[in-house]
Amino acid sequence: MTPPSTPDHFAIAIDGPAASGKSTIARELAKRLGLIMVNSGAMYRAVTWQVIQHQLDPHDATAVIGLMDQLDIRCGDDGSTSTITINGIDPGDALRSPEVNASVSAIAAIPEVRARLVALQRDYLKRANVVMEGRDIGSVVFPDTPYKIYVDAAEHVRAARRVDMGEVDSVAKRDAADSRRTTAPLIVADGATVLDNSGHTVESALEATLEILKQQGLPI
Ligand code: C5P
Repeated sequence: MTPPSTPDHFAIAIDGPAASGKSTIARELAKRLGLIMVNSGAMYRAVTWQVIQHQLDPHDATAVIGLMDQLDIRCGDDGSTSTITINGIDPGDALRSPEVNASVSAIAAIPEVRARLVALQRDYLKRANVVMEGRDIGSVVFPDTPYKIYVDAAEHVRAARRVDMGEVDSVAKRDAADSRRTTAPLIVADGATVLDNSGHTVESALEATLEILKQQGLPI
């Protein structure tokens, strides 16, 4: 896949492990800078939700790819945040169920799934400036953007965040799978600046992020 040529719009890539606080940073950044916040994880979760609905084995790549071919996946935005429908349905809270948490990394390891979703992620740049959060945004989706941040936090901080959100989710297991997969593993992308979010408040994390982006040349 060739990265898109994007003369008119820019992307800020925010990558990092589960529950590092990257969604919060991306959302606050989008508000502050007037960008569309794109949650790429929701796309992998939406496909996983369908796999579960169809009672397929998430590790059966052939079956998953067969199902993907029948899915009408539409990604848009509501003026500030990404939206997704799959065969006309907005999965809503189902995307964060324990079943989806447990299976999403297996689905995200399938190269054909990634190829289709990466194309949809790149499409956003045709219409807007975006801050996109995920695992491979700086390394694969928008490798040419100068604006890349890798948000990290100590594992116990991340596990506590998921509990606070009321979610059943083994973040350590998901991170291990996401980091070890062959296609587009979670890595610190070339050119990315690492932000340790373990001790930050929302406000101080936003300020630290803006400072990094200034240093990376964003005219703010
Ligand atoms: O960001 P979130 O935790 O919602 O992502 C759910 C899962 O989707 C991740 O654990 C990972 O397996 C997958 N993902 C990915 N690449 C992305 C975003 C998410 O592989 N860019």
